[in-house]
Amino acid sequence: MIERTRFFRRVVYGPAPDSCHLWVGALGDDGYGRFWISRGGHQIVVRPHRYALALELDRALEENEVAMHRRCDNPLCVNTGTGDPFLAHVVLATSSESMSDMGRKGRGGGRRWRFGADRAERARRSRAVREAVLKHGWSQQAIEAALYEETQGTLW
Ligand SMILES: [Zn+2]
Repeated sequence: MIERTRFFRRVVYGPAPDSCHLWVGALGDDGYGRFWISRGGHQIVVRPHRYALALELDRALEENEVAMHRRCDNPLCVNTGTGDPFLAHVVLATSSESMSDMGRKGRGGGRRWRFGADRAERARRSRAVREAVLKHGWSQQAIEAALYEETQGTLW
């Protein structure tokens, strides 16, 4: 199977063009996905949102370039707009732009779903959301329930 087909088989699309597109493949312990590809005879692992952006741009990302979640803070999201930058959740940024965006969101704006800044918490929520989507397909309710239950679990 060609690589990009293998990639998109692990993506579940939200109902609207500007919904999140959720990676439901392997996840790392940072809450971001893992996608294995072969380059130069070696297996390497990439983050799916970064891979999706490279496909969108039709070139590899440079070392100092970041695939930034602009409209959502959803580590599973790989929506790069598919030709329409206005729909994109994942956009190209420099690392300093990405840092200032994180600072801005940290002050309360912009987020739709809260995955949390803590690595372990984000990983738990990513897994919970992935499980919900694998079980129910795209369901706003199931996704939010997964995030909410996870919050309850950590509070009590
Ligand atoms: Zn998104």
